[in-house]
Amino acid sequence: MTATVAVIGAGAFGGWTALELRRRGVDVTLIDAWGPGNVRASSGGETRVIRATYGTRSIYSRMTMRALERWRAYDAGARSGLLRETGVLWMFGSDAGFGRTSADAMHALGIPLEPLTPSDAARRFPQIAFDDTIRSILWEPRAGYLFARRACADVVARFIAEGGEYRQAAIRSPLRIASGPLREVDLEEGGTIGADAFVFACGPWLGRLFPDAVGSRVTATRQEVYYFGTPAGDARFHDPEMPVWIDCGERVLYGIPGNAHRGFKIADDTSGPEMDPTWSARDATPSGIAAARAFLPRRFPQLADAPLVGSEVCQYEATPDSHLIVDRHPAAANVWIAGGGSGHGFKMGPVIGELLASCVLDGASPDPQFGLDRFRATPAGGWAPKWS
Ligand SMILES: Cc1cc2nc3c(=O)[nH]c(=O)nc-3n(C[C@H](O)[C@H](O)[C@H](O)COP(=O)(O)OP(=O)(O)OC[C@H]3O[C@@H](n4cnc5c(N)ncnc54)[C@H](O)[C@@H]3O)c2cc1C
Repeated sequence: MTATVAVIGAGAFGGWTALELRRRGVDVTLIDAWGPGNVRASSGGETRVIRATYGTRSIYSRMTMRALERWRAYDAGARSGLLRETGVLWMFGSDAGFGRTSADAMHALGIPLEPLTPSDAARRFPQIAFDDTIRSILWEPRAGYLFARRACADVVARFIAEGGEYRQAAIRSPLRIASGPLREVDLEEGGTIGADAFVFACGPWLGRLFPDAVGSRVTATRQEVYYFGTPAGDARFHDPEMPVWIDCGERVLYGIPGNAHRGFKIADDTSGPEMDPTWSARDATPSGIAAARAFLPRRFPQLADAPLVGSEVCQYEATPDSHLIVDRHPAAANVWIAGGGSGHGFKMGPVIGELLASCVLDGASPDPQFGLDRFRATPAGGWAPKWS
């Protein structure tokens, strides 16, 4: 009988899990070291894309459609305005393989993903230069973006309003569990928290908390995000005139309009170097800024001279195969580990919450693709998926 659950981590995964468990009548304590959507957390950025285009990985297309339903319902109930369905514009260079396989997979699932000719696209989005580096274009209408850090705070506020307990505290790491069940965890500031079951949704800190069970299966990679100032009074680069765009050329660059008037957001999806989520400085690098600046005039000529008005440095909590982790701790049946969002996890928050609530309360089993035992150790000391 699971009457009490401690959820550690109030990012996208932990916040939604706590709310979901609470709504199923459980006594839930949610704990976070620095607060929901804090500046160090992977969920701490302004905005995150929600899209179902996933190549052959249809499991995520299905999860995204469910997540979209849940975000819509949440917004309707809480009137929070967290989801913006602007659509996503996909632009492909010479390698359009991902677009083609996605289109087939989405078609099979009945999710719209429409081809656009360059002239149609240019008519619709005159602020974008569709030059000859773009060979094909897809339009994903049931997609858009989410206000990320605001969503984390909102979900925790909802959780508290519905009777959950939130505490700002840090669980002492590492947490080595020789054999379960786990009865309590120590806090850095002294004292303990006890529960019948525990969910650890600690993003890029998971490896530090569980050096054996997780370790370097989750690494934190440094990701820079830039905000450029748009011309005064010009609405062409903002939501609703501008959709989310993803430019799949030699590198994958993307941008999200809106961002609470922080500017025109642009980021490179390529995994950066490893970083320490607690201690690393979060200044944008001159080389990263220069690369973003070099791209702007090519795709958005009117922003060629736009000033840099802000930046964020976040981290992907990356797994070797970019699949999520949702699994029991191998040594304790009452301990669940959730994370590994790998640059695409935020939108899945509500679905991860549903999944974990049924794992903890009903004994459901997550998809083996999310299992910790899907990795094998490599001779170089890292981890690789056993199957691809
Ligand atoms: C630049 C960037 C762009 C991204 N773009 C997208 C996108 O477009 N779409 C998308 O869906 N996803 C995207 N992602 C990925 C997504 O943001 C993450 O996968 C997701 O937010 C991870 O959420 P989480 O809850 O697992 O982790 P986190 O948000 O990191 O939350 C973990 C929490 O655990 C707390 N914690 C850690 N250790 C302890 C401890 N010992 N005690 C107590 N608390 C602790 C932390 O304070 C933190 O709040 C992006 C990520 C980045 C960095």
